[in-house]
Amino acid sequence: MKKDIRSFGYDELKTEMEHMGEKPFRSKQIYEWLHVKLADRFEEMTNLSLKLRERLEAEYIILPVQMEERQISKLDGTNKFLFRLHDGNMIESVLMKYKHGNSVCISSQAGCRMGCAFCASTIGGLKRNLAPSEMLGQIYQIQKITGERVSNVVVMGTGEPLDNYDNFVKFVRMLTDEHGLHISQRNVTVSTCGIVPNMLRLADEGFQITLALSLHGSTQEKRRRLMPVANKYDLSEVLAACDSYFAKTGRRVTFEYSLVHGVNDRDEDARELTAVLKPRNCHLNLIPVNPVREREFVRPSRENALNFKNKLEKSGINVTIRREMGSDIDGACGQLRRRYAEEEDSMDRI
Ligand code: SAH
Repeated sequence: MKKDIRSFGYDELKTEMEHMGEKPFRSKQIYEWLHVKLADRFEEMTNLSLKLRERLEAEYIILPVQMEERQISKLDGTNKFLFRLHDGNMIESVLMKYKHGNSVCISSQAGCRMGCAFCASTIGGLKRNLAPSEMLGQIYQIQKITGERVSNVVVMGTGEPLDNYDNFVKFVRMLTDEHGLHISQRNVTVSTCGIVPNMLRLADEGFQITLALSLHGSTQEKRRRLMPVANKYDLSEVLAACDSYFAKTGRRVTFEYSLVHGVNDRDEDARELTAVLKPRNCHLNLIPVNPVREREFVRPSRENALNFKNKLEKSGINVTIRREMGSDIDGACGQLRRRYAEEEDSMDRI
């Protein structure tokens, strides 16, 4: 098996190259080709000798993240990408253009095993974890394809990043390393459904990234109905882990709450949610649920969503409604990958 060269951190690559008998500056050059110049093939690395390039080729692989499809929103310029991995697994990523810079939403796993009731990404289960290079590769390809510089990264695509903990942590280190794209940690957000032990570990990594918790229910019982992971970790434990993250990092936690009509958008829900968030220095992001074909969840009207927001705001909660991007393309939450999987399924049946 060839080694995944783009997943070696800066110091690790140095050690690798030393073992090959190469001078330290070679490792620096290779790292720059991989993480700054974003080369996808060893033959592009023209300041290396042909002999070294051939040795690299024989022992290492630059894992491909190959664009299969690209959709561009006419409404807001949002770009959606479907990428094919070396083993045929498909993942999707999104580029969103804001006034303050370009933000990319990446996937952390092919599929997901968390089983949240309203989410399209979990329907086919977990295929596998992504390597650090495959998380980086989504951002690198988007920069190369669009010529846009990425300044913000959100790990909110397919998969549960804290279910792929080691690779995710390594990805953050490499993404924010001064020898690579050097994106500021403050511009990186990770979203989790609430895997408590790994939230606690993350708080000790010394990162300055933003933690977003997918809350979706204001009580243990309501959360449990939407998110199977709540059977494992009680709401009180999840909230304590958020508090610990804030205490250790000084980073205000974001709570995400997908508004589902008639399920979690009633007066009672707003009251309970206020009680949960009021004592905390946090931010609440409301996401009117994106209907998923296989699921029956209904999105609240704009008016209902605004009402809900106003109620929380009046109680002093810091709240925004997530602006909807790319709604004219397979915009939301795993829909592009899902459509692709369905087409494959229907082809299998023919
Ligand atoms: N596994 C991580 C990150 C991926 S999902 C997590 O659970 O946080 C990113 C966010 O989108 C989560 O808050 C998730 O619950 C939400 N989401 C998933 N499907 C959705 C849908 N159909 N409509 C609205 N939000 C959805």
